Amino acid sequence: MVEMLPYLLIGALAGSGISGFIAYKLLSHARREAAELENQLRSHSFELQITLDELAEKNRLLEKQSRTDSLSGVFNRASFDQQMRAEIKRSRREQRPLALVLLDIDHFKRINDSLGHLAGDQAIKAVADIIQQQLKRPADKVCRYGGEEFALILPTTDLQGAEQLAEQIRLALQNCELTLNGQPYQLTLSAGCYASIPEADSDNDEYIRFADEALYRAKHLGRNQIQSYPSVISVSADAATGVLHEH
Ligand code: GH3
Ligand code: MG
Ligand code: MG
Repeated sequence: MVEMLPYLLIGALAGSGISGFIAYKLLSHARREAAELENQLRSHSFELQITLDELAEKNRLLEKQSRTDSLSGVFNRASFDQQMRAEIKRSRREQRPLALVLLDIDHFKRINDSLGHLAGDQAIKAVADIIQQQLKRPADKVCRYGGEEFALILPTTDLQGAEQLAEQIRLALQNCELTLNGQPYQLTLSAGCYASIPEADSDNDEYIRFADEALYRAKHLGRNQIQSYPSVISVSADAATGVLHEH
């Protein structure tokens, strides 16, 4: 529309009988105005694009914050619930195994009691970093499930794969000397693993219940170890009595 202005003007002026010089002046003025308008429009749409980009970046940051645990930097519980639901659906659709590992720091209360809560917080952050360093696949996710408990969501992973990774993490922590309140501190963790190809009625509760049961057994059997659901029970008979024993 702006580009058509000079021609409309010429038509109007020719019809009205205004002298050539005045018509030329008016036309130049109209052209300058049109060019100025175009410049302003260009600069406004440039500014608008910058504002939109900044807004999109702020939204991305906010969305990331809402999924992240502020102390440890890994995914928070709400994000765990949501990602686990999505992975159960996807794994069922693709008929692939999905594994969940629950990791719990051993005797964590002792840190709080002996070195204070800030040292406890440092320990949670350090353990989260060690776990994160052991994960190699981009699809694997580490979440802070509770106070000093972490959950690993491992898509396309069977029980054996989950146990291997959990053992790798256990060893990494065992072989790492942490510094808490400026003092060297040794920590260990226990883990419970569960894996399956989800059924139609599989949900987060199923995975958490079974992984937690295995974790409970790891604690009960002395901590600093990995256990799985279902447990592998070997049975032997007492040579003298014939009584069966579970191991
Ligand atoms: P276990 O080997 O049986 O797991 O022993 P534990 O002492 O680790 O077990 P428990 O789960 O009973 O204790 C965990 C403690 O972690 C209790 C709570 O005070 C502490 N805790 C939970 N969240 C935080 C946190 O964000 N910061 C700190 N410093 N402590 C926390
Ligand atoms: Mg705990
Ligand atoms: Mg604990």
